Amino acid sequence: MKRTVLIVGGGLAGLTAALRLSRRGFNVELLEKNSMAGGRLNQLSKDGYIFDTGPSFFSMSYEFDEFVNDTGIKMPFEFVELDPLYTVNFLSTGKTYTMYKDLARLANEFRDVEPDMEDKIKRYLNAGKKLFDGTVDLVVRRNYSSLLHYFFTLMKAPPTLMPVLFRNFWQQVSAYFSSEEVRQILSLVAFFVGRTPFDTPAVYSLLSYTEFIHNGYFNVKGGMYKIIEGLCNELKKQNIKIHYNTEIVGFTSSGDRLRHLVDQNGKKWDADIFLINSDAAWFRGKVFKRPAFSDERLDKMKWTMGTLTFYLGITEKIPDIRHHNYYLGSNFREYANKIFTNPGSFEKPYYYVNVLTKSNSDCAPPGGESLFFVCPVPDLRFKPDWSDSDKIVDSIISDFSSRTGMNIKSKIAVQTVYTPVEWGEQFNLYKGSALGLAHDMNQIGGFRPKNYDEEFRNVFYAGASTIPGTGLPMVIISSKLAVERIVKYDRTI
Ligand SMILES: Cc1cc2nc3c(=O)[nH]c(=O)nc-3n(C[C@H](O)[C@H](O)[C@H](O)COP(=O)(O)OP(=O)(O)OC[C@H]3O[C@@H](n4cnc5c(N)ncnc54)[C@H](O)[C@@H]3O)c2cc1C
Repeated sequence: MKRTVLIVGGGLAGLTAALRLSRRGFNVELLEKNSMAGGRLNQLSKDGYIFDTGPSFFSMSYEFDEFVNDTGIKMPFEFVELDPLYTVNFLSTGKTYTMYKDLARLANEFRDVEPDMEDKIKRYLNAGKKLFDGTVDLVVRRNYSSLLHYFFTLMKAPPTLMPVLFRNFWQQVSAYFSSEEVRQILSLVAFFVGRTPFDTPAVYSLLSYTEFIHNGYFNVKGGMYKIIEGLCNELKKQNIKIHYNTEIVGFTSSGDRLRHLVDQNGKKWDADIFLINSDAAWFRGKVFKRPAFSDERLDKMKWTMGTLTFYLGITEKIPDIRHHNYYLGSNFREYANKIFTNPGSFEKPYYYVNVLTKSNSDCAPPGGESLFFVCPVPDLRFKPDWSDSDKIVDSIISDFSSRTGMNIKSKIAVQTVYTPVEWGEQFNLYKGSALGLAHDMNQIGGFRPKNYDEEFRNVFYAGASTIPGTGLPMVIISSKLAVERIVKYDRTI
């Protein structure tokens, strides 16, 4: 008999899990609280301007290859390599560094500040390769049956990796490079896992290897939301239904089985198996009311940064700007140390700008540019009041204007702002934490909320706050790991 799996959430993890499960013969349906699929991987469209609202870096494309092979579909969207990868501008010197994949060319960018850069970056990336080879298959793409199993797995990691377990990201880059510029630039990738380089374990420096050597960054043709459109087309072909505007707020159970999930209108949703793509910690606390995930306990966990994001459609092209651009101030360490807990530290914000129209000119009216700004900010635990968001946005626009030499404000045709309040409310992200639970050593692997439920044998989890972690490639892996669990469980009933 074909069993039914009900998936709560149409984020990337939920959609990819749906196709993996369908391939394995399950009947699948999805419930999504919003009127569009994609979750954080979403889109805003206004007066001919198209913006990716969340993820803009498409990386580790091999995880998407694994997914299409697993599901037997064709890659449902197109992507092309970006080179250069990104630029970084420093306020203090006004200098912009362009990050090329060609290491000789890259070294030339830093010839004035970092002697022997080519040799140093090769050694640094080689260390990143060792971390990648020694951990990804062993630790990341894997389910654990217990904490003990996790520890035994870690013990199989090459002993040469051990020192890295006791360093942070900043210490790792500082061991290879002497200039502040190179240290700061290479450690920006730590923000991808949602914290600063000073509190991100050094093991994540394997991301530098994936960005420069192993894979890179890609432009998804037409914008990142093409990923979701492509997946939704596949779901349609396979008659997998998504019920929109349906938010799960309660449940019924009997013994160790979940019987129904209950939506905001009191409707009961029945299934044999349930897969939760809503945040794995938030859902356990808010819907299942588990004491281990009460508000008090959630507050004590480490969460990734909040984000202030805003989307500007402007009527002119900006010269000398790339697809991905970072703008840094002149107090990196001080800023990083304060930024996630101090509500008043935005005099000179650090930010990132995505210019979707650089690679996809049809994402704005002719002659216009579609700009997406991301500024890392405290979550709602540390800054609950966002009534000053317009002021912060204005200060970023004026900083950006002076760095680009163009009066941006006078060219704005459309503008939308999301603070952590909107991020939290739209997708049920705890206190507006943009990327979910942080990746401290005591919140990864065997310590992260599990992808199977503690009480209900027929409930599983996929997404950023369960294993292996946050980011598009990781949540695709999470759907694979959750489906492995479901298939195993299915054999026992
Ligand atoms: C500003 C920003 C920038 C980012 N940049 C990048 C990047 O460049 N590259 C990258 O790889 N990653 C990036 N990320 C991270 C990436 O977006 C996430 O890790 C990933 O999209 C999470 O997918 P998910 O499926 O786990 O969760 P989500 O996308 O959050 O999906 C969960 C879904 O569940 C729904 N839901 C929640 N609760 C309920 C409920 N009770 N009932 C019904 N439905 C519910 C939500 O509405 C949502 O659609 C970024 C994130 C943000 C916010």
